[in-house]
Amino acid sequence: MSDPVAALIRVKANIAQAAIACGRDPASVALVAVSKTHGLDSILPVLESGQRVFGENRVQEALAKFPDLRQLYPDLELHLIGPLQTNKVRDAVGLFDVIETLDRPKLARVLADEMSRAGRRLACLIQVNTGRELQKAGIDPDQADRFIEVCRREYDLLITGLMCIPEAGGDPTPDFTLLADMAKRNGLSTLSMGMSGDYPQAIACGATHVRVGSAIFGSRPL
Ligand SMILES: *Cc1c(COP(=O)(O)O)cnc(C)c1O
Repeated sequence: MSDPVAALIRVKANIAQAAIACGRDPASVALVAVSKTHGLDSILPVLESGQRVFGENRVQEALAKFPDLRQLYPDLELHLIGPLQTNKVRDAVGLFDVIETLDRPKLARVLADEMSRAGRRLACLIQVNTGRELQKAGIDPDQADRFIEVCRREYDLLITGLMCIPEAGGDPTPDFTLLADMAKRNGLSTLSMGMSGDYPQAIACGATHVRVGSAIFGSRPL
């Protein structure tokens, strides 16, 4: 049995160490604890130990777990980190605090309509397909500047930053650097990048949010 609280403490120490190693304030890196596939028995102790920011990749799964947890911890902050279908937008806007996976104009339009209908203006990150992988979610890097502009001007969305998922197994540094440069030239301050296998490198490249799952909660069933 793994102990998620002990693992959380180790991850937080690693984050602080990686930040200090590149001259950054450890407090400038937020940990998004990715709790997908894990139940309340794992999530509750992590909440009790003080962690408040969580990431889930499926709307339905998050709906089954987080309304109860929010009753207990009203200050928790929930990020959607998985693909969002437009037919799930209403549930997503009602439940999440941050949408990290805005990656296409149709989704921008549906999110904007639902946010104004619901009277909730969620922070959104634009997911960029930094590796230009076929079949992978995320806006193409060549179209990203224009898409950011459209999301802001045409849809009046609150775009706070960028997110990427580099190809597994490769060197993620070029992806992280591309994302950081793109954020800078678009005046965006939030950079969600880095997972269990590469969060120290992401921090060295400027990550403000690292999304860490298995290093805290243990491996996931396939
Ligand atoms: C599952 C997931 C993570 C966490 O992955 P780990 O390797 O378990 O840390 C981070 N980001 C996204 C988008 C994910 O789907």
